[in-house]
Amino acid sequence: MPDHITVAGVTVDTRHWIGGQRLASPGTFTDLSPIDGSVLGEISRGTPAEATAAVAAAKAAFPSWAATPRAERARILHAIADGVEKRIEELSIVETSDNGALLRSHRRGVMPRVAHNFRFFADWLLKLEHEDFETRGHTNHVSWDPAGPSVLITPWNAPLMLATWKVAPALAAGNTVVLKPAEWSPLTASLLADIAAQAGLPAGVLNVVQGYGAEIGDALTSHPDVRRISFTGSVPTARRIAASAAPNLTPLSLELGGKSPLLVFADADLDLAVDLAVEQYDNAGQVCLAATRILVEESIAEEFTRRFVEKATALKQGDPRDEATDIGPNIHPRQLEKIDGFVQRAVEAGARVVIGGHRKEGQYYAPTLLTDVAQDSEIVQEEVFGPVLTLQTFATEEEAVHLANGTRFGLAATLATGDRERAERVSDQLVAGTVWVNCFFVRDLQAPFGGSRLSGVGREGGTWSFDFYCDLKNTVTAPNGWNNHG
Ligand code: NAD
Repeated sequence: MPDHITVAGVTVDTRHWIGGQRLASPGTFTDLSPIDGSVLGEISRGTPAEATAAVAAAKAAFPSWAATPRAERARILHAIADGVEKRIEELSIVETSDNGALLRSHRRGVMPRVAHNFRFFADWLLKLEHEDFETRGHTNHVSWDPAGPSVLITPWNAPLMLATWKVAPALAAGNTVVLKPAEWSPLTASLLADIAAQAGLPAGVLNVVQGYGAEIGDALTSHPDVRRISFTGSVPTARRIAASAAPNLTPLSLELGGKSPLLVFADADLDLAVDLAVEQYDNAGQVCLAATRILVEESIAEEFTRRFVEKATALKQGDPRDEATDIGPNIHPRQLEKIDGFVQRAVEAGARVVIGGHRKEGQYYAPTLLTDVAQDSEIVQEEVFGPVLTLQTFATEEEAVHLANGTRFGLAATLATGDRERAERVSDQLVAGTVWVNCFFVRDLQAPFGGSRLSGVGREGGTWSFDFYCDLKNTVTAPNGWNNHG
């Protein structure tokens, strides 16, 4: 098997990156492009042997990286950001070819954010400090000690963005990393390994292992030398990882699925509310934070639906490399089947299709809105992860909050209202890691990010990321007992 493939003119190494070297597995898996189902290449199919070798490389590199002065770690992270910025075009086209998300989003939003992930955590590291506490003259000094080798496992819906959201703080904290990207979108992780090496990141500090989670996941997450596991993905996988990590009590950060609501009150700016609702089809609905349950106040439901249908049906669906495209393909034939299964079962259970409700030619699903759905139905309770929204109505604020909180998830919630007091009142009552009021998706990296209930465990972002990737230490020093000062 060749060691490299060429995707849209960009050379991508198909092997693992372990201890500063490329390493192939005996077998491969096939990476498909969702754009047209074509084969992008054969990628090294990791086995527990490579997973274990990657952890050993991360363990060997840890003492020296942990002892590297903060300023030097920050300098290297900025050099990685420079490398990302130089290759934005290449990273964008490879990511689009691999996961089908819009090229224009990768160019203008996602890849600049990838670079920003490194810059932000590099800068935050240099600012990281805590005020000392005083107890009866004793100083309590808080420090963040690097925790050790960290396993980072990521999904396919925003591959490099989500990987670097973990890699950057883990490296900044002084940890070494084994990154396991998703098997449906493995390519940009390999490019990241090249960029990091060129930026001067020492061998073994970042390792990338390719392959199926079911085949190599356990070797990574049950390894006693792994001191942190950060996972973004689905709830069933999170349960497996938690069970595998349990014997070593390895600390976990879990960023999981959602079934987030968009609450539209009659006092909202209706155009804004419709825009917010239509935005939920972004990335063909493959966004964990997507507000897939639209809850609209009864008195405006008809007008809202009319305007929504007008806007949603004007969206252009097609090749994600085309600048004019609004919605690209779904990631994989299996995902498409899953999406259609949810929709067909909802229809059988009595849902009414307002728009969409069917597959289109190729790997595309028509943007779908379903109404007449019961709160306890599968389509309202379970994450679809496709361009499928439901619409329910409410009569009172109390009912809106009740419906909004009425799933097992708690990742995010979005409110459209013109009443500031209502926004505060409602947001106080919502169970969600993030609440957006009259906006969506905007977020400062200093703020905590994560989900409540089944949407996750823990928070990352700003100091919270360092709290997770480090062992916090309190050093208590007595005021006396010194013999080396006057
Ligand atoms: P997934 O759980 O199937 O896979 C995620 C990753 O876990 C992949 O790399 C996979 O190979 C790996 N994996 C699978 N089995 C494993 C095992 N036994 N041990 C270790 N690793 C294993 O999820 P997905 O389908 O790739 O991603 C979609 C899900 O991710 C959705 O539920 C979505 O909501 C969620 N997501 C959450 C966030 C967030 O920030 N909360 C962001 C993006 C996506």
